[in-house]
Amino acid sequence: MNVAVLGLGPMGQAMARTFLAHGYSTTVWNRTASRADALVAEGAVRASTVEEALRADVIVLSLTDYQAMYDILGSADLSGRVLVNLSSDTPSRSREAAAWVAERGGSLVVGGIMVPSPLVGTDQSYVFYSGPREVFDGVSAVLAVLGRPDYRGEDPALAQLFYQAQLDIFLTSLSAFLHASALVGSAGVAASDFVPYAVENFQMMEYYLADAAAGIDAGEYPGDQANVIMMGATADHIVGASRDAGIDVGLPGAVKAHYDGAIAAGNGRAGWTSLIEVIKKGA
Ligand code: NDP
Repeated sequence: MNVAVLGLGPMGQAMARTFLAHGYSTTVWNRTASRADALVAEGAVRASTVEEALRADVIVLSLTDYQAMYDILGSADLSGRVLVNLSSDTPSRSREAAAWVAERGGSLVVGGIMVPSPLVGTDQSYVFYSGPREVFDGVSAVLAVLGRPDYRGEDPALAQLFYQAQLDIFLTSLSAFLHASALVGSAGVAASDFVPYAVENFQMMEYYLADAAAGIDAGEYPGDQANVIMMGATADHIVGASRDAGIDVGLPGAVKAHYDGAIAAGNGRAGWTSLIEVIKKGA
C-alpha cells in the first residue's frame, strides 16, 4: 500500500516521516510547496497537484481544520478513494464531511491523534478513529504506525468527540495548573516549588474518577462524604483568594457557577457529581 499525506504542518511532517521510516511509499502535498522539500530529500514523492496525491491507496489529511479539506479537494473526483482526516474540528463538522466525501464516491475515516508531533509513531501515541468499519479495517494496519488505533464506532463524529473530550480535560487542567501557580506565585512561591503538589493532585484524580463515573451513569449523586454546599463554599474561597491576589477569576468563577447552579436546583446536599446536571443543561 502507498500513502499520501496532504498538509505538512508539524503533524503532517511527523506522519510522513513515520510512514517513510516504516517503508511505505509516501507522497506528500502541501499548499505551501516548500514545506515538502525536506521530506522529498528524505525519500518522499512530491505531488505537484492534489489530484496526483489522491491516487494513493491511503490519503491522510493533516490540516488546520475541516474547511481546509473542502478548500483543497474542491470538486476532485473521490470515487473509490479512502480519505483519513486527522485534522481537528467539531464532531458535527466531521459528520458533515463524511457525507460530503460519500456524495463524491469516497469514504472518510475520521481520526484524532492524541500526541504532539515529536511523539507521533512512538509507543505513547494513540489515535481515535470512527467511520465505516470495513473501510477502517482495510487501512488500520497502515495507520497503526502512527500510534495505537482506537476505533470508536461507525458514527463519523465519535473520533472527534473523544478527541475533543480528551482535550477538554487537558486544556482545562493546564489552565488550572497555571492559575494555581499564579495564585501561589502571588506570595512569591516559585512554580517549581509548587509542581510536586500539583502532580500529587493530578495523580489523585484516578481515585475519584472511577466512582464518579459509576454514579454519573446511574444518575446517583451521594453527598454523604462531601456535599455541594461544602464544596461550593470552597469554590467561593478560591474566587476570593484569586481576587485578593489580583489574578484572573474567570476559571474559578466558572467552577463556582456550577456549584451555584446545583444549589439553586436544590442539590446542595448531593455530591459534587450532581454538577453534571447543571453542565448538561447548558447556558
Ligand atoms: P498547522 O496549522 O501547522 O498545519 C496545518 C496545515 O494545514 C499546513 O500544512 C497548512 O498549509 C494547511 N492548511 C491550513 N489551511 C489550509 C487551507 N485553507 N488550504 C490548504 N492548506 C491549508 O497544524 P499542525 O500540523 O500542528 O496540526 C495539524 C492538525 O493536527 C490540526 O488540526 C491540529 O489541531 C491537529 N493536532 C496537532 C497537534 C500538534 O501538536 N501540533 C497535536 C494533535 C493534533 P500551509 O503550510 O500552506 O499553511
